[in-house]
Amino acid sequence: MTPSWLSNETATLAAAYAADRMPHALLIHEAPGAGGEWLGLWAARLVLCTQRERAPCGVCLSCRWVLAGQHPDLTTLRLIEESQQIRIEQVRELSEELSLTSHQGSYKVGVVSPADALNRFAANALLKTLEEPPARTLLVLVATQPSRLPPTILSRCQRIRVRAPARSEAVAWLQATRGAGAWEAVLDVLGEAPMLAAGVDAEALVQTARETAQALEEAAAGTSDPVATAEKWARSEAPLRLRCFENWLTERIRERVRQGSLLTEVRAGTHLSARRADLNIRQLFEVLDGVRELKSSLDAPLNRGLALESLLRRLAARGPAGITR
Ligand SMILES: [Zn+2]
Repeated sequence: MTPSWLSNETATLAAAYAADRMPHALLIHEAPGAGGEWLGLWAARLVLCTQRERAPCGVCLSCRWVLAGQHPDLTTLRLIEESQQIRIEQVRELSEELSLTSHQGSYKVGVVSPADALNRFAANALLKTLEEPPARTLLVLVATQPSRLPPTILSRCQRIRVRAPARSEAVAWLQATRGAGAWEAVLDVLGEAPMLAAGVDAEALVQTARETAQALEEAAAGTSDPVATAEKWARSEAPLRLRCFENWLTERIRERVRQGSLLTEVRAGTHLSARRADLNIRQLFEVLDGVRELKSSLDAPLNRGLALESLLRRLAARGPAGITR
């Protein structure tokens, strides 16, 4: 089922294909989890479908192969296991594959997702294919941060922007594809990222999020053991816990701003934080920085537990005397 917020993009691509104006390379710039890869694979079905008049028909063998991730003329580059980068060896395999004759006598397609994870060498290797694309080749790059890609690559791709859908559209699509569920609550945790939400167990995620928020309240109140909490989080669902941590801090910061305490705190600083027995906005931002830093380095799990413990301790460290540096 085509997500309603992607219907303009699919119509544009279908029109280009029907008019024989399909570009060799697409750069899909997506909001996180908004469906960039879905659109990339839809474009693959479009050009590989054997029913050209109504491509992508969704029922021919080609369409079904793409949906099953098994089309011999489609190569998809993704991150391998815990790696944060797409490497040059992967790009070389893709380029080699694209240079071969199509099994079905039509297109060869490559989808790179996330393309902003191509490291410098991999991006350079890909540039060669982009500069001299074999005939009837479609290369699709999906990225949330295309600015990470070299301008030489960007300039050779036709850009498509995929924005985050409205909450109501995302929920309707999730209900239609995944069935009834606590999708509102899931999107509260994950943001407007329906494709990400579609891959989770809604009930379990909501349960973990509630439990995490509860643990953060306790950590801030100083009524829990940060070592035990950190160990538990490091072992299970660390990325989700960090996301919940980030949401919790952002919400606290918003509250402070709503209360207009930002200016007061800058002026009255120490008095206020000591009196209110609560974290001030600057401390909240500091912990938030720490959480984001940890999120981006999660592939190095060595000191995950220690880092979490330190962040939880900082939540409980109130007022000027309690701040440890
Ligand atoms: Zn088809």
